[in-house]
Amino acid sequence: MNLLHGSKVWVEDRDSAWLPAEVLDSDGNKILLLTDSGKKLFASKEKLFPRDADEEEHGGFEDMTRLAYLNEPGVLFNLRRRYELNDIYTYTGSILIAVNPFTKLPHLYDSHMMDEYKGIPLGELSPHVFAVADASYRAMMNEGKSQSILVSGESGAGKTETTKLIMQYLTFVGGRAAGDDRTVEQQVLESNPLLEAFGNARTVRNDNSSRFGKFVEIQFDSNGRISGAAIRTYLLERSRVVQITDPERNYHCFYQLCSFERDAEKYKLGHPSHFHYLNQSKVYELDGVRNSEEYLKTRRAMDIVGISHADQESIFRVLAAILHVGNIEFSPGKEHDSSAVKNDKSRFHLQMAADLFMCDVDLLLATLCTRSIQTREGSIIKVLDCNAAVAGRDALAKTVYARLFDWLVDKINMSVGQDINSKIQIGVLDIYGFECFKDNSFEQFCINFANEKLQQHFNEHVFKMEQEEYGKEEINWSYIEFVDNQDVLELIEKKPIGIIALLDEACMFPKSTPETFSTKLFQHFRSHPRLGKEKFSQTDFTVSHYAGKVTYHTDTFLDKNRDYVVVEHCNLLSSSKCPFVSGLFPLLPEESSRSSYKFSSVAARFKQQLQALMETLNSTEPHYIRCVKPNSLNRPQIFENASVIHQLRCGGVLEAVRISLAGYPTRRTYSEFVDRFGLIAPEFMDGSYDDKAATEKILQKLKLENFQLGRTKVFLRAGQIGILDSRRAEVL
Ligand code: ADP
Ligand code: MG
Repeated sequence: MNLLHGSKVWVEDRDSAWLPAEVLDSDGNKILLLTDSGKKLFASKEKLFPRDADEEEHGGFEDMTRLAYLNEPGVLFNLRRRYELNDIYTYTGSILIAVNPFTKLPHLYDSHMMDEYKGIPLGELSPHVFAVADASYRAMMNEGKSQSILVSGESGAGKTETTKLIMQYLTFVGGRAAGDDRTVEQQVLESNPLLEAFGNARTVRNDNSSRFGKFVEIQFDSNGRISGAAIRTYLLERSRVVQITDPERNYHCFYQLCSFERDAEKYKLGHPSHFHYLNQSKVYELDGVRNSEEYLKTRRAMDIVGISHADQESIFRVLAAILHVGNIEFSPGKEHDSSAVKNDKSRFHLQMAADLFMCDVDLLLATLCTRSIQTREGSIIKVLDCNAAVAGRDALAKTVYARLFDWLVDKINMSVGQDINSKIQIGVLDIYGFECFKDNSFEQFCINFANEKLQQHFNEHVFKMEQEEYGKEEINWSYIEFVDNQDVLELIEKKPIGIIALLDEACMFPKSTPETFSTKLFQHFRSHPRLGKEKFSQTDFTVSHYAGKVTYHTDTFLDKNRDYVVVEHCNLLSSSKCPFVSGLFPLLPEESSRSSYKFSSVAARFKQQLQALMETLNSTEPHYIRCVKPNSLNRPQIFENASVIHQLRCGGVLEAVRISLAGYPTRRTYSEFVDRFGLIAPEFMDGSYDDKAATEKILQKLKLENFQLGRTKVFLRAGQIGILDSRRAEVL
């Protein structure tokens, strides 16, 4: 790097990550700098990065690839500068980066705006989510190929809002004339509030956090009209139904129901604070949200999606039953280690739950307090102690809720309808981004596994796009290499030995413990470069993911991976007189009902779902949107550098930059190049050379090598534009 007096640089800084500065003196080991805020400091060469000279004049670049110096601080500050002006969208090549504004920007999304972007090639107008949606729609129509839009980012970054905007745009360009309330596109849109009521909740990161992953596939007919849709969901967080911590909330639908007097009375509900599943956290209300209004919205969405009033009644009756179940408490029973319903209050809730489930109250009680065990001599009844009864009660609530959620998804799919003749689709993926917390458990493991899969897909795609651009310009790219993440994926999912396979094996042996599982894991992967062991723990393991190292606690891995339905629960609910409830629990086939707990692996099923998703994605042309959360306060106009850098790394944005750095990150048309750098070599500017030839002469004069001359553009290696720039500055 050239460090003459006056060179513009980025210098590392503990508080703001990077500071813009200028070189004052570069003699000696340490470089003397003047920061833009007027501070003088010394820094070693390694802590400096070159900075674009004219970035200040712009309100930032709409496309990162316009930066002369495509480095981390450059990317970061470009986003920051634009964010300050409420330009929340920026491209990195064909990837769209969206920074959450945390404030309504209505003009940005009105129908006028949708009209504006309709049919306009990507990059001609300012970066926008509509531009990406339009690009995929046009590509689908022109090439007859299915598309996918992959939206990622951490919790609260704006994925779900972005997904909804995409769906809005697609129903705008692919919808029929307005009027009818129950068109396919209206149903597709209304599936959002419905699924949010049952699958979203307040968390510390986001008041409306989706607790499931979602892939919505919108089907089109050959005229480009929406003709059907299919929704797939992933890994709903079940534990939330029975356990929440302050200041989070349970799923929205519970509060909605409690607040709507007429129905709440009918089901003997009342204020959420009366229910154990809701009062573990004292937050009942959300800023700017009226639960009773939301209830009506949910009901209307159900109408539009085509859920009958009888089914709607059943759905809310089941929700009420779950709340009553949660209030059944136990005390030690007469027999040793047995349990009984604690008091009159609990008996009331027991009766209510049985009434609402429309099943026999004695059978419900037996289901809660006993298990039958099959032996060779026939079945024997085993009593459950209070702890086991509470655990069983919660398992019942979770199972019912999960089945209800799946039913809703199935219902939406049936009701919206599948166009089996559709050959062109656009899939939109809204899935949790990479997670690394202080404590990481099985959920993070699954989420990060999904992200590794998507990252692999992303790398391959970005790499391919680069190659295509090089191919179009007829230049040689054969030596570009990048490190992929295949080895992490193998560590996780390879059969017969990988983390998931070993976990499943452990789950099948009743005697397994987190210790035996971890020991096996370390035995098999003694020196795997991506797997590490923690110094102070026997059971934790660390995976070096593409986005950084994550240490997982394994103490609950085995329990969480075992997804069994207690046979008694199934029998109880399939005996319900309510066809809706019994329909949620079809009787198990004879063979599997013999053992009380049937093991099925959560991780293995998730792996299969991901595999199917990847197959779908692989048959489409992908588009990427990376959502960024600018601050953890969820407030507008605050931009926290360190956190944004972390997200750019995790989201693979810097990875994409790195891949492009491995090739020719800077490209300029010949005329652009000559306009800017012609004055370095005035001797070639007399008109006897065309722009391409002049470009070559200039580069040769500076003794630069390894650049490529394409058909219309010159392709420069990383850093070459810097040399040109400083030479230009000397001449000026
Ligand atoms: P995620 O799905 O990534 O967890 P959400 O899409 O739920 O995040 O966004 C969190 C919150 O941020 C939203 O409830 C909304 O208040 C705000 N938000 C996100 N995107 C936008 C946007 N484009 N314009 C205005 N507000 C937004
Ligand atoms: Mg979300």
